[in-house]
Amino acid sequence: AGGNRLELFSEQMRITVQERITAEARLRAALDGDRDRTLPVWFQPIVDGATGSIIGAEALVRMCTPQGQILAPGHFIGAAEETGLIVPLGEHVLVSALRHLLAWQNDLGYISVNVSPRQLSEPGFAPMLAGLLARVPHLDPSRLVLEITETAVLATSGDLETRLRAIKALGVRIALDDFGTGYSSLTWLQSVPADVVKLDRSFVAGLATDPRKSSIISAVLWLAQSLGMTAVAEGVEDVDDWQALRAAGCPALQGYYFSRPLPATEFDAMLRRGADL
Ligand code: C2E
Ligand code: CA
Ligand code: CA
Repeated sequence: AGGNRLELFSEQMRITVQERITAEARLRAALDGDRDRTLPVWFQPIVDGATGSIIGAEALVRMCTPQGQILAPGHFIGAAEETGLIVPLGEHVLVSALRHLLAWQNDLGYISVNVSPRQLSEPGFAPMLAGLLARVPHLDPSRLVLEITETAVLATSGDLETRLRAIKALGVRIALDDFGTGYSSLTWLQSVPADVVKLDRSFVAGLATDPRKSSIISAVLWLAQSLGMTAVAEGVEDVDDWQALRAAGCPALQGYYFSRPLPATEFDAMLRRGADL
């Protein structure tokens, strides 16, 4: 590889590169198609921690292949980030989320959208978002939450704090996603002007039987509250998780126990039923 660097190109890597090429080609085709069909945005409810009633939703993108497969983001977000296609993809997700938020505004408090580091490092991100919000002047922008991960702090070129302040100036809220899994969560908490902490599901799994986990959860909830932030626990898979989180006073919950992510029409039907999950 030049200098005195030697790189091994193994069969395993060839497969990975091949998969990446396939993923990229698929993604380009999907972005060129009718995006609401090829890249539908699904929604997973976020519920009130005490009552279980729906307060918000996280937008989670899927890809429908021409063969009719539905792919989870693990299959294409990596390629999207590497190629920069995350920029048009991310804009599509925001457009879709805002449209659904408008349709559901009487039944749903907010929609949370994942934003990758690559998107945040685009100087055009905040102006693009401002343009989208200007198209829905009757929507309170605080009903849009942007979820960012700690890797954004490391990977974003430019001054992340300045960028986030520009985004917050639009009135949208910021959530710290997968909180607690990174290397510098507390530094992050100190430097990022966030409104919401999303406790990673690794703290939730087995919570009911692990006193160390419940201590960590209680401490993070306390910390979030003292910083004027609210918290959502992810990965609530059974009633024991819920009970433990309720006992800890967690304000909001998300997980398979309440519902898997659903296509918009199914999410809509659930809202119409006025479902208390
Ligand atoms: P995430 O932001 O941490 O989203 C939560 C993931 O956990 C979702 O996976 C969701 O289906 C899954 N999940 C929800 N409840 C449970 C549970 O009770 N147990 C378990 N084991 N899992 C649960 P999904 O939809 O496959 O998304 C994976 C990741 O892809 C997301 O992780 C997010 O980082 C990324 N992603 C999804 N949509 C977008 C997008 O529009 N833009 C960007 N940049 N990333 C996205
Ligand atoms: Ca997320
Ligand atoms: Ca998460």
